[in-house]
Amino acid sequence: MEAGKNKAIFLDRDGVINREKGSYISEPEDFVINDGIPEALKILINSGFIIIVVTNQGGIALGHYSLSHVERLHDILKKELSAGGVELAEIYYCPHHHTKGKCLCRKPGSILLEKAVSRFNIDTTASYMIGDRERDTQAAEAIGIKGILIKANENIVRHALKIARGVSQTRS
Ligand SMILES: [Mg+2]
Ligand SMILES: [Zn+2]
Repeated sequence: MEAGKNKAIFLDRDGVINREKGSYISEPEDFVINDGIPEALKILINSGFIIIVVTNQGGIALGHYSLSHVERLHDILKKELSAGGVELAEIYYCPHHHTKGKCLCRKPGSILLEKAVSRFNIDTTASYMIGDRERDTQAAEAIGIKGILIKANENIVRHALKIARGVSQTRS
């Protein structure tokens, strides 16, 4: 890794960090953190990675919920993880939806990841993105970050262990 740079794990939100339910998630009672998340993030942080969440929240543009709903869930997430000793570096979200006009930040667009790379001085070649959709890994791979495609709601501890050992496969 380049001296002075950080390595990061980028994570999608719905289906990776919290339970994908097949519909938009805006209420705290629907926001259920997936098994293995605190443990996996601890393994990664202990291996020297910073943790960044990048999520598409098109439900905002569609009028299903507002920015304040998203912020409220993210406050809950940060608090729950923090109680277990896990700090997120940042959560980025795209509030747009492709049916309401074009934006560059919605994954598979890479703008939000690029923002993070610049702000946190991240070495993309030493970093990974874990997502449950092709658009997640596409956004990462477009800027040289290794994508790991998982099944929705999969326990990611085994991926965290592989990354920690430096032997991660980019397809599971
Ligand atoms: Mg997802
Ligand atoms: Zn956007």
